[in-house]
Amino acid sequence: MSSYPIYDEKALKAQRAARNMVERDRKIIRIVMVAGILILLMVALAYSSKYPIYLVALPLILYYLLIRGVINWRQWAALLAYEVKCPYCKKPVATRIYLYKTPTPNCPHCGKRALATLNQLDHPQS
Ligand SMILES: [Zn+2]
Repeated sequence: MSSYPIYDEKALKAQRAARNMVERDRKIIRIVMVAGILILLMVALAYSSKYPIYLVALPLILYYLLIRGVINWRQWAALLAYEVKCPYCKKPVATRIYLYKTPTPNCPHCGKRALATLNQLDHPQS
């Protein structure tokens, strides 16, 4: 039993292009995130004896949420840019950008699996 739909070559092409767009800046976002957290952690440790812990932790939490927002934005933007559509209901998988949630592989309209697996993207069905 296969719960994954069969994608046509055009659909796979759009999904591959969207994935490549996300992959392009994944590394730079990760470096910025780790560097920022390390810097904020050092600042937090330096001020931890002078200020209450919630004040010291706040910039770290805000920075993390900011980076999460950027990551989510990049993923939704890629799905929008290449107009990735659900193979079942043919509706677009993304209609807008959400900063607070990550796109799932499932279609927001019909709930069925809309995005191909990495394996399907890399090894198209013959
Ligand atoms: Zn659908």
